[in-house]
Amino acid sequence: MRTDVTADVTPDVTTVATPEAAAAVRTEVAPEVTSVVRTDVAPDVTRDVTPDVTSIVRTDAITAVTRDVTRDVARDATTDVATDVATDVATDVATDVATDVATDVAIVGASVGGLTVAQALRRRGFAGSLTLIGAETELPYDRPPLSKQVLAGTWPAARTRLRDRAELDALDMELRLGRRAVALDQARRRITLDDGHTLRYGTLVVATGAHARDLPGRSGLAGVHTLRTLRDSERLREDLRTARRVVVVGAGVLGCEIAATARGLGLPVTLVEPAAHPMERLLGTDIGAALARLHTEHGVRLLLSTPVAGVEGEDGRVTGVRTASGTLVPGDVVVVAVGARPATRWLTGSGLTLADGVVCDDRCRAADRVYAVGDVARFGVTGPDDRGVRLENRTNATEQAVFVAADILGAEARYRPVPYFWSDQFQVRIQVYGSVPAGATVRVVEGSVADRRFVAHAEADGRLVGIVGWNAAARMRTARTLLDLAAPTA
Ligand SMILES: Cc1cc2nc3c(=O)[nH]c(=O)nc-3n(C[C@H](O)[C@H](O)[C@H](O)COP(=O)(O)OP(=O)(O)OC[C@H]3O[C@@H](n4cnc5c(N)ncnc54)[C@H](O)[C@@H]3O)c2cc1C
Repeated sequence: MRTDVTADVTPDVTTVATPEAAAAVRTEVAPEVTSVVRTDVAPDVTRDVTPDVTSIVRTDAITAVTRDVTRDVARDATTDVATDVATDVATDVATDVATDVATDVAIVGASVGGLTVAQALRRRGFAGSLTLIGAETELPYDRPPLSKQVLAGTWPAARTRLRDRAELDALDMELRLGRRAVALDQARRRITLDDGHTLRYGTLVVATGAHARDLPGRSGLAGVHTLRTLRDSERLREDLRTARRVVVVGAGVLGCEIAATARGLGLPVTLVEPAAHPMERLLGTDIGAALARLHTEHGVRLLLSTPVAGVEGEDGRVTGVRTASGTLVPGDVVVVAVGARPATRWLTGSGLTLADGVVCDDRCRAADRVYAVGDVARFGVTGPDDRGVRLENRTNATEQAVFVAADILGAEARYRPVPYFWSDQFQVRIQVYGSVPAGATVRVVEGSVADRRFVAHAEADGRLVGIVGWNAAARMRTARTLLDLAAPTA
């Protein structure tokens, strides 16, 4: 058995064990062992072996022996541990040596962007090793239902899962959940995780998304929420069960959806917004006004053109929101929906350019063999005065991930998406392709606002730049093509 196995490995590797041979190995190896490899993974592992590596341990099937062996070899700084139980073992030996694992592609951020990169790589036949690292403990899940079905209680949390366990296993990747990347060393192509372990990569994809922004000085008052994660949604839902008055700060997409969902649960809701219309930045003033009517008709109290100074509380619980003009808007549940900030803190000092996102070129490359996708990526930056674009929507996260997977595998195109998002509020589906910039001329081209079903075109400088659908999903299917045709070709 040992002779067969040894034939599979490189000359650097001197000892190999199968699970069956573990007992034998245990007695034979001990201090002089330099490598233990599971036979079924030997070809993969050996391909990854770099000249400086003298030992690789895949311990999932040989935990018992590896625990002993690893204790010995881990003291040797050249040892690599690539294993599902490495965490356990490494915890034991962490005081002696930081374990260091190698992977061909490391993806940091295990949500829709990161997972889609992994899927797209495999779909295109990528056979190298993949590691997906995610700070959250849940299996990768989708966020759009968090402000809609999950918050309303019509979907169980499990329904938000992007892939089930079997589908994730089929991707043949190392999935490390509940693990946060805390630093990037570009020169050595190495990521440090929050447990002190390091991961060497061939290519890195940053897919860390964004965090919810908060109001300054809310100082941990009970009843104040932001909404970004499944946990946030569940906690907010729990609080809504006993809420008497809900205040939502910020009438962007998220704030409007939360207000609509809370109102749908029968709660009194006040929506406070500094702009003159809800979702004005995304829909413009005309359609923003239609949205204001929709909310008002459903009983949401809208306080527009009303900047907020902060939240106030008593005995550790929120009592309301103080506006900039000094009025207290009472509420025992307050949801702060004032936007998101890209999750880039862990990249500080890495040498990547960070400017409200990870700055990338038009192939979504932030540096040599480093990409960014999804909400965290500011892409299309081609010169010093170019700010590029950062999109916070579900469709971009997927499309950009597919694009990046292709680029990793050698395609060399430019990423030029037609931005798209949707929002569901009070049985109305709003869809937007492109954008509605301030000052654009907005014309309803089909249906009518009064009929509550329409398609509107936004034009700037005589060119079609955005298409908005209001309960017009069928019509919107062709909208993207229209925008493609209208886009400048340079
Ligand atoms: C409540 C809600 C509703 C939404 N509704 C819609 C909608 O209706 N339509 C629409 O188009 N879009 C919607 N969106 C936006 C859409 O969900 C996002 O654009 C999308 O989730 C972005 O995906 P992502 O993978 O880039 O980032 P994210 O989904 O933010 O995922 C990033 C992941 O990286 C992890 N992470 C962060 N830092 C680290 C680290 N240092 N180490 C390891 N992991 C890390 C995070 O924990 C997170 O799991 C909604 C978003 C929210 C929050």
